[in-house]
Amino acid sequence: MQEPISEVNLSSIDLDWNGAIAFLDRDGVLNYGSPNYINSPDELEVIPGAKEAIDDLRKMGYRIAITTNQSAIMRGLWQKDTIHAIHKKLQEIVGPIDVIMTCPHRNRDRCGCRKPMPGMLNQASQIIRGLTHPIPDWWGDKPKSHHHLDLMVGDRNSDMGAGWAVGARLFQVDEKIGIRQVIERIKQNDEGDDFRPT
Ligand SMILES: [Zn+2]
Repeated sequence: MQEPISEVNLSSIDLDWNGAIAFLDRDGVLNYGSPNYINSPDELEVIPGAKEAIDDLRKMGYRIAITTNQSAIMRGLWQKDTIHAIHKKLQEIVGPIDVIMTCPHRNRDRCGCRKPMPGMLNQASQIIRGLTHPIPDWWGDKPKSHHHLDLMVGDRNSDMGAGWAVGARLFQVDEKIGIRQVIERIKQNDEGDDFRPT
């Protein structure tokens, strides 16, 4: 398995699209994370304010792509059907998400999708608007985004790195607060956090 797992709902989502994509990490942004992974729908607890933030993004016209590293899969803890069950419950709470990309790999699998690599963001962008980015020069200038409002919300530097690699505005949050920490800044079209890959 070299590819990320993709779940696509575009056909069920009817909205006026502004052309931009909101790339969101999952654990620590929409639901509370755990050092032992989220292993079942029962363990999924949505962070207060996450549903309202998703609603706000939709009203602003964003399409939404969740990109989540879940190496528990390649560690053999559970299978794809578990991820589908968890994401079914997540969407029952926060509403439908256009594209959900899950990287099942560990560092040693050396895939192109485990953040900070931008593979999941690129595949979501390909599905949503038929555009991807080249592999970035991590020591060079920040790449240019396909839309000036593209954004990435995450709690880790690896999220910021993946967003940087596709030129997105970057919003880093505390894992206990999640996306509600930055939604007002997003509504004001804030240019996002400064970040340099290291
Ligand atoms: Zn991967």
